[in-house]
Amino acid sequence: MANRHTGSCYCKEVKYEVNLQSLDDARTSICYCSNCKKWTGSAFGITTKIPRSALKITKGKTTEHVSDNGSGTKLYREFCGTCGGGILEYGENAGDKTYITYGSLDHPEELPPKGEFFCKYKEMWIPEIPNVFHKQEIKN
Ligand SMILES: [Zn+2]
Ligand SMILES: [Zn+2]
Repeated sequence: MANRHTGSCYCKEVKYEVNLQSLDDARTSICYCSNCKKWTGSAFGITTKIPRSALKITKGKTTEHVSDNGSGTKLYREFCGTCGGGILEYGENAGDKTYITYGSLDHPEELPPKGEFFCKYKEMWIPEIPNVFHKQEIKN
């Protein structure tokens, strides 16, 4: 059952499952932008892009936060209102895609990263991840 993935927030009040047609439908990436650092309180954000229709919240519900990401695009983040654990993030232009927080997956190791974004903001002490793509910003 490699294409079914489950996850939850830290306190497990919110649980979800992801049912993929194929593992190729998921793309995990790391982002070093300041927005991701602030939201996660960490040195980077790591999320897994999936088709929105592949996601089902199976327990509880998320709390939503919406704000401008600094370039005029609205960024939505959904998290557990009890423990604050992140579940989802997506920009208003994400279409039928959404981004699951990698660490909320019960078995994140099944969906290893395929790339890194905003490497120009990466801390000097973080080594480059081998065998994935590296973008200095979002596209280049
Ligand atoms: Zn929680
Ligand atoms: Zn980011």
